[in-house]
Amino acid sequence: AKASGRDQVKFFNPMMQASLSARAAVETELHEALKHEQFILLYQPQVGCEGRLLGAEALVRWQHPRDGLVSPAVFIPVAESTGQILMLGRWILHTACLQLVAWQGKPEYAGLVLSVNVSARQFHHPDFVSEVLRTLDETGADPTHLGLELTETLLADDIDNLIAKMKALKARGVRFSLDDFGTGYSSLSYLKRLPLDQLKIDQSFVRDLLVDPNDTAIVRTILALGESLDLEVMAEGVETIEQRDALLNLGCRRQQGYFFGYPGPPEALLDGRANAR
Ligand code: C2E
Ligand code: CA
Ligand code: CA
Ligand code: CA
Repeated sequence: AKASGRDQVKFFNPMMQASLSARAAVETELHEALKHEQFILLYQPQVGCEGRLLGAEALVRWQHPRDGLVSPAVFIPVAESTGQILMLGRWILHTACLQLVAWQGKPEYAGLVLSVNVSARQFHHPDFVSEVLRTLDETGADPTHLGLELTETLLADDIDNLIAKMKALKARGVRFSLDDFGTGYSSLSYLKRLPLDQLKIDQSFVRDLLVDPNDTAIVRTILALGESLDLEVMAEGVETIEQRDALLNLGCRRQQGYFFGYPGPPEALLDGRANAR
């Protein structure tokens, strides 16, 4: 009885209860949001040599009727733990593919790759591959212009299954990036086996690139790794011209960040910084 009493005291810790009810509220409201499609995708440019547009990353926002635009940092983790990410992820992929089709016909977007973030829970769903293929077929999106961004958390699970799924999508031309690279636990032996196309250097290494020599060393190492494994390397979180130049000097030409453009509506993608956000 004492023990359960203690547990109760623990459970009713006001801080914890506040966060629990906030989470429950997010879950309930997400349910409504999914029903009424209160989401939008914003697109952030990814550039290569001399600022040439290589593609865009799709980033989801929740247009909350009361709170306005809600950051994915607030609702993606909740959606992941409740499983709502499955429905949301389907909407995201479908919407991204429709955007890809809208771009496909226009010469100024030729060759552009649209990258979509995929949560581990989504990727692990047994129907993930067939759903992606069906979405590509239904929308008419060119699979070779679709990129999927995965994170290292995926590597915690059955690696052979992961590789088989990636290969099934790669067979159709879908590209794969490993997001937030350097922050997780990917073992180098896994990295070699994954049919990846790109590593994305996490923005935490770009942030202090000019002041922290360790970050320069890390970026150098990731670039060398990319070179030897024959993977593209993209830096994210590039906010200043100094960061851009430091990365260029290290040999990293693929870059993404506020310096080149904020996530914005699809029409703004070609406008660069002028129409930021
Ligand atoms: P992420 O995939 O690492 O996305 C990059 C985040 O950095 C985005 O935040 C982007 O807006 C932000 N960012 C871009 N350039 C800069 C910069 O120069 N400086 C700084 N400080 N930040 C920059 P956002 O849009 O708030 O997304 C946060 C995270 O939420 C994403 O991190 C991703 O993990 C998740 N997320 C966003 N959209 C989706 C989605 O459609 N599906 C899933 N599963 N997750 C998503
Ligand atoms: Ca990403
Ligand atoms: Ca990232
Ligand atoms: Ca991140």
